[in-house]
Amino acid sequence: RQPLLIAKDLKRHFPIRSGLLNRQTATVHAVDGVSFDVKKGEVLGIVGESGCGKSTTARLMIGLIELDDGQIIFDGDVLGEDITLKELRRGVQMVFQDSYASLNPRLTILDSIAFGPKINGLEDPEGKARNLLKRVGLEPERFAHRYPHELSGGQRQRVNIARALAMEPRLVILDEAVSALDKSVEAQVLNLLNELREEFGLTYIFISHDLNVVRYISDRVLVMYLGEVVEVGPAEAIYHNQAHPYTSSLFAAMPSMDPDNRTEEPPLAGDPPNPINPPSGCRFHTRCKFAESVCSAAKPKLSVIGGDETHLAACHMMDPASGHSQAFKEAAE
Ligand code: SF4
Ligand code: MG
Repeated sequence: RQPLLIAKDLKRHFPIRSGLLNRQTATVHAVDGVSFDVKKGEVLGIVGESGCGKSTTARLMIGLIELDDGQIIFDGDVLGEDITLKELRRGVQMVFQDSYASLNPRLTILDSIAFGPKINGLEDPEGKARNLLKRVGLEPERFAHRYPHELSGGQRQRVNIARALAMEPRLVILDEAVSALDKSVEAQVLNLLNELREEFGLTYIFISHDLNVVRYISDRVLVMYLGEVVEVGPAEAIYHNQAHPYTSSLFAAMPSMDPDNRTEEPPLAGDPPNPINPPSGCRFHTRCKFAESVCSAAKPKLSVIGGDETHLAACHMMDPASGHSQAFKEAAE
């Protein structure tokens, strides 16, 4: 499959003031050289602890946060050369966690959905909005003239999805889009997202801290740690055959649905280190039980593991053939 979006070496460093009387400036390495692609029609999940740069990465892709460095290529067009940010933003829509903050409280939901198409000169914005309302499970007769505060969280998120689709996007970025919903509502919205993807031929980037949800919806999964990609691969490989010690720890901490599948591995201890002064070399070395001296000295590169071109991880201790580190294997035996 062809890539729809390619992100190359994205960087975003936030300067902050620190120290006595705030006289020093420090740099937060929020996103530090992140590269990936998302193929046409697939769902790419992005996981990692909070503060790992998942949301910043998403916002960098559509210019909600300015890039310090890096390149975005959308369907073969380089942002800033072949297409403008405005053109990119029509093709890429985003749905956020807070369903209420995303909607104008003074617009009826019909007007909210029709607003984007209207200002972009798309045909029949209101008819489009009615059709989409219906498609996301909200009867236009009952819901079109309501205001956001008159809806439940799940209903509002359906409105946000309709609003995103009204722009006829090709890629939808869902940033913790179901995280605030009750479990039963969450399942319904996930099913709806799956149906809409097929029906409209969409591509999704699905960002969540909830590994079970990501597994349910994703074809491929990208794992981030402290502003960097540590592993990426098919969802099956990431969930059952992790190569990177961080991915393993992350998944060991995940409450398993399947009691036979629980590992003895202790969950990740403590919080990630401060992104102001990230650890040298492999950023995970301060928490990794397989760390050796090379780990703090040099940064490991993402490399193909286990002979599967689509599965990559960045760890010095990995055996490229099996996809597992030597130390890792010994520990498992
Ligand atoms: Fe652990 Fe070293 Fe691999 Fe980093 S490079 S994950 S510290 S073994
Ligand atoms: Mg976030």
